[in-house]
Amino acid sequence: MPRIILLGPPGAGKGTKGSLLCDKYDIPGISSGDALRSNLEARTPLGLEAKGYMDAGELVPDSLIIALVEDLIEKADTKNGFLLDGFPRTIEQAEALDVLLFGKSLELDKVFYLRVTADVLIDRLAKRRICPKCGEIYNLQSKPPKEADICDACGSALIMRDDDKPETIKKRIEVYDEQTKPLIEYYAKQDMLVEIDATTEIDEQVSQMSDALGEG
Ligand code: AMP
Repeated sequence: MPRIILLGPPGAGKGTKGSLLCDKYDIPGISSGDALRSNLEARTPLGLEAKGYMDAGELVPDSLIIALVEDLIEKADTKNGFLLDGFPRTIEQAEALDVLLFGKSLELDKVFYLRVTADVLIDRLAKRRICPKCGEIYNLQSKPPKEADICDACGSALIMRDDDKPETIKKRIEVYDEQTKPLIEYYAKQDMLVEIDATTEIDEQVSQMSDALGEG
């Protein structure tokens, strides 16, 4: 019953490896970024409020994100566990998560820190394409779609995320360094952190994470 956090800079492959782990353990993946993008597409008040921050590569305020993720966790079927992708991203969010889980008598198992250098990230983000319909993630070099610009899974036209433009990428990496990196120490102190070299083969990384969970 793994309860997992994927921590790492934008472009570390949290979404790709998160979905493989979710399939493997039959657990829901809760992605704050995906939830914000769905809200934006549906033009909800939350989505519209978040848009300015997302476009600028900044973090959406803690109060909004915490309420959003709490609601997602409440609604998800977490009997087998869950995986958080992109949350928490600040110490305040991590503390709010601790309180929420404590209230539910649940404990986290592992926080996987996906480590990659900035030059690799910039290259990966520039080559990332996503399916706006089903959320499948591609990379023009390492995981290209079978037919150019078309989603293998659902046939929709692939897009580049607005915040994967070069100017925004730089800001997102800065924001990560300032606000999210402190979480590495936060979880290391709680003895939950497992560092994964996120530049190796994806299958290799998934098997390292499975080994760390002790669930093959
Ligand atoms: P992601 O898809 O995780 O890269 O998130 C895309 C954008 O959504 C980020 O650059 C932030 O603007 C916003 N976002 C996602 N998750 C969070 C979070 N936990 N806290 C604050 N902002 C977030």
